[in-house]
Amino acid sequence: MTATATDLDRLRHALPRDLERSSQHYVVDGVTPAIAFAPNDGSEVAALLHAADEAGLTVAPLGARTATGLGRPLARYDVALDLRGLERVIEYVPEDLVVTVQAGVTLATLQATLREHGQYLPTDPSPGDEVTVGGLLASARSGAWRGHLPAARDLILGMAVALPSGDVVHSGGRVVKNVTGFDMHRMHTGALGALGVVVEATFKLTPLPAVTRTLLLSAANIEACGDLARRVWDASLAVRAITVLGARAADGVMLPPVPAVLVEVAGSPASAERTLRELRSLAPSAGEAPVETWGRLRRLAAGPGATVLRLGIPPAEVETTVAALERSGMAAWAHLAAGVVIARGDIAASEVEALRALAVERGGFLQIEVASAALRKAVDPMGEQERLLVAALKQQFDPRGTLNPGRWGAGL
Ligand SMILES: Cc1cc2nc3c(=O)[nH]c(=O)nc-3n(C[C@H](O)[C@H](O)[C@H](O)COP(=O)(O)OP(=O)(O)OC[C@H]3O[C@@H](n4cnc5c(N)ncnc54)[C@H](O)[C@@H]3O)c2cc1C
Repeated sequence: MTATATDLDRLRHALPRDLERSSQHYVVDGVTPAIAFAPNDGSEVAALLHAADEAGLTVAPLGARTATGLGRPLARYDVALDLRGLERVIEYVPEDLVVTVQAGVTLATLQATLREHGQYLPTDPSPGDEVTVGGLLASARSGAWRGHLPAARDLILGMAVALPSGDVVHSGGRVVKNVTGFDMHRMHTGALGALGVVVEATFKLTPLPAVTRTLLLSAANIEACGDLARRVWDASLAVRAITVLGARAADGVMLPPVPAVLVEVAGSPASAERTLRELRSLAPSAGEAPVETWGRLRRLAAGPGATVLRLGIPPAEVETTVAALERSGMAAWAHLAAGVVIARGDIAASEVEALRALAVERGGFLQIEVASAALRKAVDPMGEQERLLVAALKQQFDPRGTLNPGRWGAGL
C-alpha cells in the first residue's frame, strides 16, 4: 500500500507549513519515505501522529539515525518524523541534580551543559556525539559502565510521550499522571519507538568523578584474565568499568594483541588513589592505557561493516565465551559487571541461532546490535522475551500499527 496525495495533504494540514522537509534525506533500510516533518514540540508531534494514524500512514520517529538498524527492518515506512527540532533544555536545577530536556537534545549538548556545573548524566558515552536523548532512551543500549552505574531507565524521573491517539501522556517527574497503570518509563525505554514517541524526559544527575584513570592489566591467558577481572570486581573498588578483552579485540583497539583486562578508575582523589594501589597489588604489571581506548572500543561495537552481537552470560563464564568467539574468528570482549559479551565479525544466520540457543540454555540472551537487513530478516534481532512484551503493549498504545511497524516482527 502506498500513501496517496490526499493522505499526504491531511498530514500537511495538521502542522505548520514550514515543518515539512525533503523526504530524500531520511532513507532507512534503503527505503525513502513519502514525506518528512521536523516538528519543534510535543504537541506538534502528537498532531502529526494522530493525523497519520487517521490516514492509515506509518511513522518512523528519528533522532540522529545512528541506530535505525536495531530490530527488524521496517515493514512499511511512509512518514519520517525528525525529532532533532525538539532541542531545548527545558529546566536545569543543579542544586537538585535534576534536568528536563526535549527529546531531540543531543547527548553531547546535554553533557556539556551539565559539565559546567560539575555534573553529568551517567549513561555510557555513545559511539557518536550527535545521538539524541530520545534515541538513547528508545534504543537503551549500554556499554562498559553498565552494572557499575544505573541503567538509563533508572535515571529517568519523568517522561512525556506522544501517542498515535494524539495524546501526550506524562508520567513521574514534573507532572504525575500515570493513567496507563504501566511503569511508563520502563515501557518506552528500549521499545525502539514502537509504542510512542518520547518528547521530553527528566533525569536525575550525578556529580562528575574528580579523578578518572584507565589501566591495562595483563595475565597469562584469557582464563587468567577472567579470574583477575573477578578479583577486581570482588574488591569493591572505585571503578566504573572492568572489561575483559580477547586478543582480537585488544588488537582492534590498538593495544598489544593479547588477552587483557581494561579497568576504568573513577572517584574522589582519595578513593582513586586507594583503588590504584589495590589494582597494582592485584596485578603488579598494571599500566596506564590511553583513555581513547574506550572510544575505540565503542566504535568497534557500533559497526559498521560487520555484524555485532551482544550476549548475556553468567559472569563466571564470560572468558570462556570470549575465547570461543575469538576462536571462531570474531573479536570479542566482556563487560564483567553487566555479564555481557560483545562480539564483532562475520557470522552466518545459522551460527547466530546456535549461539542464541547456547546463551539461553545458560539463562542468558543474545541480541543483534548491528547487522545487514538480510540477517535481521533471517534472525529475530532482539529475542523472544522482549518481543512478547512489546506484543502485549502494542495493542493498547498503537493498535493500528502506526509507529515503526515490523520493528519487533510481523504485525508489531
Ligand atoms: C552497537 C551499538 C552500541 C551502542 N552502545 C552505546 C552505549 O554504550 N552507550 C550509549 O549511550 N549509546 C550506545 N549506542 C548508541 C545508542 O544506542 C544509539 O545509537 C543512540 O542513542 C540512538 O540515538 P539516535 O538519536 O541516533 O536514534 P536513532 O538512530 O535516530 O533511533 C534509534 C531508534 O529509536 C527510535 N527513536 C528515536 N528517537 C525516538 C524518540 N524520541 N521516541 C521514540 N523512539 C525514538 C527510532 O525509531 C529507532 O528505532 C550504541 C549503539 C549501537 C548501534
